[in-house]
Amino acid sequence: MSVLSCDRRGCPHVMCERLIQTSDGDQYICDGCFVELQKLAAKWPSPMLRKDVVEAVTEFMDSAQVEYGDDEVDPLEAIGALTRTGEDDG
Ligand SMILES: [Zn+2]
Repeated sequence: MSVLSCDRRGCPHVMCERLIQTSDGDQYICDGCFVELQKLAAKWPSPMLRKDVVEAVTEFMDSAQVEYGDDEVDPLEAIGALTRTGEDDG
């Protein structure tokens, strides 16, 4: 049985099933880091050269996870919590 640990710097997650291409070869990335990467990528300029994306992914894998203070939130997640469907619940 092999333990597939997330290759992101400092990430403690194991049992990753997703591989991502970086300049250093394919690396394992856990779901949490992948979601974070997707959020980050949403802020990247578009279009981008494929090699620049690989470069940016490599940089991401070498960056530590963002840590939030007590009253700090991820704006993208916060927006989700601030919205609801238009149903009138009286
Ligand atoms: Zn991870």
